[in-house]
Amino acid sequence: MKEPSIGRLGTPYSADTNVSSTGIGVDRMADFTVETDERTTIVDVTDRVADAIPTDADGVCTVFVRHTTAGVIVNENERRLREDLADALEELVPDEGWSHDALDGNADSHVRAMLVGESITVPVRNGELGLGRWQSVLFVECDGPRTRTVDVLLH
Ligand code: ZN
Repeated sequence: MKEPSIGRLGTPYSADTNVSSTGIGVDRMADFTVETDERTTIVDVTDRVADAIPTDADGVCTVFVRHTTAGVIVNENERRLREDLADALEELVPDEGWSHDALDGNADSHVRAMLVGESITVPVRNGELGLGRWQSVLFVECDGPRTRTVDVLLH
C-alpha cells in the first residue's frame, strides 16, 4: 500500500483509515486552522489548501469546513468583493427574529453558512490546484471571531 504523503499543514490519517466504509479511497487528509477577527469575514485560504497537496498528485481536492456557522467557496479574492459578500449575507439574512436564537443567539450565522455551503471541490493536476485565473478558495466566517478547522482531502 502506498504510504500517505505528509504535508506541512496537518497530519493525514494513517493508511488504514484512509479507506472509508464505502470503499472509496481517500489518498490523503490534512487540516489547517483559520483565525478570524470579525463576525462576518472572508479569508483567502488558497495557499494553505495548495500546501496540503502532494507535489505529484492528480485527482480531486475537497475542502471541507467542520463547522455549522462557517463555509467555503471558490471566487475572486478582491477586497471590495469580499466586503460585498459579507454585506450581502448580512442583508439577505437579518440578525434577529429566528427560532434558534432562543438556544444560543446565532441563527443568522447558521443560515448564512448554509447559503455559503460547507465544502468545495477543485481539480488537481501535477500537484497544482486547477483553479481558473481569477479563482481563489475563500473561507467564509459567519460567527467570528473564532478559530476554525478546515479539512483538505485528496481523492
Ligand atoms: Zn447555534
